[in-house]
Amino acid sequence: MPTLDTFRPEPGTLPTRDEVPARYKWDLTSICTSWDAWQGSYKQLDAAIAAFPAFQGTLAKGSGQLLAAFKAMDEMGALSYRVWYYASLHYDQDQRNNEINARRQQVQILFARQAQASSWFNPEVLAIPIETIRGWMDANTDLALYRFAIESLFHEQEHVLDEQGERLMSFAGRFNSVPYDSYSALTTADVKFPSITLGSGTKVTLTYGQYRAVLETNRNQEDRANAYRIFHQTFADNQNTYAALYNGVLQRDWFHARARGYTTTLDAALHGNNIPTSVVENLIAVTKQGVEPLRRYHRLRRRVLGLSSYRLFDVFVPLVEHGARYPYDEVGAWIVDSVAPLGKPYQQNVKSAFDGQWIDVFENSGKRSGAYSAPVYGAHPYMLLNYNETLDAVFTLAHEMGHSMHTLLSHQTQPFVYAGYTIFVAEVPSTLNEALFLDLMLDRARSREERIVLLQHAIDSIASTFYTQVMFADYELQAHRLVEHDQPVTADVLNAIYSSLLEAYYGDVIDREELSQFTWARIPHFFSTPYYVYQYATCFASTARLMQGIRSTDAGARQDAVNRYLNLLKAGGSDYPMNLLARAGVDLSQPETVSAVSAGLNGLVARLEAELTM
Ligand SMILES: [Zn+2]
Repeated sequence: MPTLDTFRPEPGTLPTRDEVPARYKWDLTSICTSWDAWQGSYKQLDAAIAAFPAFQGTLAKGSGQLLAAFKAMDEMGALSYRVWYYASLHYDQDQRNNEINARRQQVQILFARQAQASSWFNPEVLAIPIETIRGWMDANTDLALYRFAIESLFHEQEHVLDEQGERLMSFAGRFNSVPYDSYSALTTADVKFPSITLGSGTKVTLTYGQYRAVLETNRNQEDRANAYRIFHQTFADNQNTYAALYNGVLQRDWFHARARGYTTTLDAALHGNNIPTSVVENLIAVTKQGVEPLRRYHRLRRRVLGLSSYRLFDVFVPLVEHGARYPYDEVGAWIVDSVAPLGKPYQQNVKSAFDGQWIDVFENSGKRSGAYSAPVYGAHPYMLLNYNETLDAVFTLAHEMGHSMHTLLSHQTQPFVYAGYTIFVAEVPSTLNEALFLDLMLDRARSREERIVLLQHAIDSIASTFYTQVMFADYELQAHRLVEHDQPVTADVLNAIYSSLLEAYYGDVIDREELSQFTWARIPHFFSTPYYVYQYATCFASTARLMQGIRSTDAGARQDAVNRYLNLLKAGGSDYPMNLLARAGVDLSQPETVSAVSAGLNGLVARLEAELTM
């Protein structure tokens, strides 16, 4: 077999797309063979959209008509994937290409027409009594395929108001984005970033990115303290404005919940996915009881970093310096090895992703930044990376591969209507792939420094993706309860909630810093998407629970856990997330599920302690 030349762009250089060898670029011909073929699919979708309104007024006539309309919806949906992704993935290769940008926008315009042409569909289904549709589904197995889609549509409908009520709600809807728009203007458009002079004499403007960079890389504590204090002072200076804006968010959420007949804002937020409020309450309570491993980690950091005072600006700095580079070809083989516990067929799929040009690996001029996995129905998932040989890039690859395998198995198994999945389960396969990859990397680490860096990476990701997110969820819940109980919302009250949370999580392990109480004001999620971040934490807990089974020393239990996990991936969006997870052996309302995270963290911290005291 001829050896292929490996391609490793020099750090700091930006190749043109032509300079990158083909095997490191995605091959989009699995979506459409050419732009001519794409044009053909575009016209086909255009025609399907034009034909769809003919179904209007027919749905109540019988199961055959309803089934035909559902099938037509699916056909439009499946075509949409090809038409959209062929244009949009091409665009992301080089966003300077105006011709492709125009085609991409052309698809967006077509999608707007599609939404219009089908806007009557859900209301017309909902106008048929559910009992009638259930009767049809019992008699017609083809229609019964849509059972979950139909039942969940009716479930969502439970809190829809009468016509007059919905009209009023739509008027009020125009105010919905005012708190966040104002927050966004205050923190981005109108913000004046402060500057500081570092110990080295360098002057730095503290944009959010620069602020993070100082906290994550600067080994001089005084510099970190300066950056932290000046950055938080800008929020402290406007604390009453931030509190007023946040009160706007809380009042809006409470208005919506009451208008639609929910008991609490949390009920309103969880109803769509049919998640019991006990899941969030259990998450918060159990996490608070499981903070000891987190504290143990910070005590260790204080000792290793040799700091007499240890504050929130000291928690990100690396424990050791380690400049290892990870060439893509080497890492690709490791990722294939790392998924061996999930069985041969899964491993073969991962190999196909590497060998079959599913991945666009390196940065090139004009390419979109970041990383993602694109679920292209009818082809296979594609991944965009900007791989730069750092440890972060390595774990990003493992993460996106997890999303891609989820997509692949779901698309292969489910009919179109259930091929997609919700955020509530989406981050399980990605974080599980990362966990498997960490196990392998730790086994193969070439030095003590590398093991320390790997352990810190894993621990920091539990701290930020789990503990911090649960603390945020706790904050949001307490703040929303203020308005639900007719309590005033002021800066003092919000600062007090945040201080008490820091106390509950870190105790005296992290020294008190006056300005930390204003942290709530700088978290955009609180203002943009309330009750959202807890989903990262529940995914993380699910993964920790699943990994206990996958790592089991009992072969039978291990195989059973793997099968259940693969079935979760294959199930796509065919049921409510709690039911899908329950079948995989994960019950998020149980304390043991959530405490699996602190148990896992404790093991990692113990290993890190051992490495550092060697
Ligand atoms: Zn992800």
